[in-house]
Amino acid sequence: MDPIVSFENVEVDYDGHLVLKDVCFEVQPGEIVGLAGPSGSGKTTLLRHLIGLKRPVRGRILLFGERLARLSPAAQRRLRQRIGVLFQGGALLSSLNVYENVALPLLEMGFSDTWICPMVSLALSLAGLPPENAPRMPSELSGGMVTRVALARGLVAEPELLLLDEPTAGLDPVVADAFIALMGDLQKSLGITALMISHDLRALERLCHRIVLVGDGRLIAQGRFHELKQKADPRIRSFFRLDGERNP
Ligand code: ADP
Repeated sequence: MDPIVSFENVEVDYDGHLVLKDVCFEVQPGEIVGLAGPSGSGKTTLLRHLIGLKRPVRGRILLFGERLARLSPAAQRRLRQRIGVLFQGGALLSSLNVYENVALPLLEMGFSDTWICPMVSLALSLAGLPPENAPRMPSELSGGMVTRVALARGLVAEPELLLLDEPTAGLDPVVADAFIALMGDLQKSLGITALMISHDLRALERLCHRIVLVGDGRLIAQGRFHELKQKADPRIRSFFRLDGERNP
């Protein structure tokens, strides 16, 4: 099967200041890949490049087999419509209620009300939110509910790829665990393909088929959570907070 996402020897910078080089990894259909690494290591920058907000200095980024940077603005828009995004902190629009926030991607895609209503209801139910929440404003919601509304918005247009930016950041451990369990169930039932930035070890362990670890200006390692945890590289051990322990 062709990968959904493919980074091939990618180098990214800001105004000549190198952020990451030699980045190579793929996201296969049905896979959740975790993008991890210390703060400031370039994870968000990679996501920005993936959705075409920036062009890599070197290398190729393929999304659904296409080089976004080479497409016309209209073709780029069509490709982006195949992606759902859950931004850090939810990023709900405070002046819109839950229903309107979730409906936004469908409005942008030109769906009519006849379709929007059932699609929003389905997305809210997938995200574990009872329908009576639809008229509530973001200011009336707990952090866990905001994350679920943001997930509903990410899922509403039935994306082929879901991008999640630190979905459990700022949530208390019980709420974060409930979100992880929900995502796990959705992955099993819908076969979601996702790329998830996270430094939450529980989320990475329980949700991700593979972890891509970046730091020190490059890709440090990639593999299954438990494989990476066995590595002797001090940067990997530091990420898994194993610094003080002796190697097995
Ligand atoms: P992460 O998501 O891993 O925390 P980022 O991708 O946000 O890291 O940032 C990677 C590096 O790029 C950091 O050194 C950061 O200061 C720098 N950076 C991020 N955004 C910008 C920007 N808009 N302009 C210049 N430098 C930036």
